[in-house]
Amino acid sequence: MQSLLLEEEWLFNLVQCDVWKRKVARFSNEVIVIPINVYYDEVEPNAALGPHCEPLGCTYVQIAVLPPEWNSRLENIFLALLFNAHDRSLYGNYRAFKPLLQELKLLELEGIEIVTKEKGPVRVHIVVAWILGDNKGLNGICGFMEGFTAIHFCRICHVTKADSEQMFEEDVNLLRTHEDYLLDITKNDPKQTGIKEKCIFNKLPSFETPSDICVDEFHDLSEGVAHYSMVAILKHFHRLNDMFIPTLNSRLYALDLGIDNDNRPPGISTDRLLTKSKLKMTGAEMYMIVRIFGVLVYDMIPDGDPFYDLYLLLHDIMSIIRAKSLPRDAGVILSVAVKEHNQLYVHLTKETLKPKHHFLLHYKSLLSKMGPFSGVSSIRFEAKHRMLKLTAESCMSRVNLPKTVAIKQQLGFCFRCVANASIRQPLSAGPCQTVNLSELDCFPSFSRSLPCDIVESPIQTVVNWVNFKGTKYQPQQILLTDVDDDGLFQFGKIQLILLYDEKPLFICSDFDTLGYFSEVRGYEVTPLDSWFAIGHGKLLDYHPLCLYPMPTGETVVVLRTLL
Ligand SMILES: [Zn+2]
Repeated sequence: MQSLLLEEEWLFNLVQCDVWKRKVARFSNEVIVIPINVYYDEVEPNAALGPHCEPLGCTYVQIAVLPPEWNSRLENIFLALLFNAHDRSLYGNYRAFKPLLQELKLLELEGIEIVTKEKGPVRVHIVVAWILGDNKGLNGICGFMEGFTAIHFCRICHVTKADSEQMFEEDVNLLRTHEDYLLDITKNDPKQTGIKEKCIFNKLPSFETPSDICVDEFHDLSEGVAHYSMVAILKHFHRLNDMFIPTLNSRLYALDLGIDNDNRPPGISTDRLLTKSKLKMTGAEMYMIVRIFGVLVYDMIPDGDPFYDLYLLLHDIMSIIRAKSLPRDAGVILSVAVKEHNQLYVHLTKETLKPKHHFLLHYKSLLSKMGPFSGVSSIRFEAKHRMLKLTAESCMSRVNLPKTVAIKQQLGFCFRCVANASIRQPLSAGPCQTVNLSELDCFPSFSRSLPCDIVESPIQTVVNWVNFKGTKYQPQQILLTDVDDDGLFQFGKIQLILLYDEKPLFICSDFDTLGYFSEVRGYEVTPLDSWFAIGHGKLLDYHPLCLYPMPTGETVVVLRTLL
């Protein structure tokens, strides 16, 4: 946390941002203040269309300052409150969340005392940094008008629905502030203000509405704007070429996606696309197809097609919004890309902008207030629902289901405490074999990059796979290893994985990066004969990548996000 505060040029976490600085200023320097995020969503544990489809209202908390690789573990998302979601509509937000609010208030005001080796007894205050959720959930629990049909649907600004349909830039004069939010509440006029009731989280001393309520990139972008744009793009290319979608489907089916295979987008149904204007994809699959769409179809795109420009702008927006760290001025690039994307969308489709397009306008100013958006995405929280659903589905009784599910979760948490399990995931590795590295043909080329003790004793244990910090590495994956003097990224393909000093050490074959292939937003590479060794800590991006052969013969690597 201290090292994050010293970083000036890059944003990694919300503790570097304005909202957290305002909250932490209330405390003395003697105490430790830890941020947590609170997430709310409703989940249906029974068959969605059956007679017993009462949803559960789930509230989770997450320690906001953990590194992303620990935070993405479902075990590190903790269940805080569980109730029948209908009770919230029946008894109101305050009664539903009262037990949680009391706990959060106590943790913030009084905190807990812990004993550290360096400082002895220290008081730790735990403070809510952000309220997370999807748009409907956030508006519901924070007292704003639910649903996008309301005149004032936006909880960040005062724009009307009609104005937002032709709005391409954020209007700072319309932004809601805490002061005019309090004024709006006194008016008691939901139609004109968009506020139904005072946000219950304002009962927490450091909480301010609306600045401390988050946005959700997963629903706004992956399941929202990306879907609208890709539907328009696919329809356009289908009009130009009947074989476009069948060819895209067959290439998608044949492509080796490596580590992303679980998120392989399904084949696109032309009938569904044309009749319902819908793609049957999850947010993760949509993210995948936006990343690789250019690689798959670039040879079928006519020169200068504006719909392809729309796709490239979408790709740029997604790579910024999904980034785990960003330069402080990345918001400017993002706002330009969003403006151009939205203008082109309106121009090409002749449709008006939708509420999710409007939310993207606010992302530029929110970046300096809340840090990278991937850290507050609801994608992992939605995955956590599965653990609760498994309990609910395996239990035949429907008498007080929230209690059954909560007890099961508590028992799991108790087991974790008794077992003294860490929030970190221990390193695990697959079958191993002994290899004499000096007998490999490439040994002279990579021996110089090996640690001295491995060169002196080259008979080493090599593993088939290793899971380190929640990421699985296997041979044939591509790693981002370096950047050259011209600013081009350098890549390597994993050939062997060694365990050295309790961390993976990768022996990779080298690539020559020929250049940036801007039309597919990827780097064109060609394999070299030389090999090199690199430790996990020296990688530029810890996430493995994949090589994509293009139909036109080039081989490219597409980065996951902006770096
Ligand atoms: Zn707005």
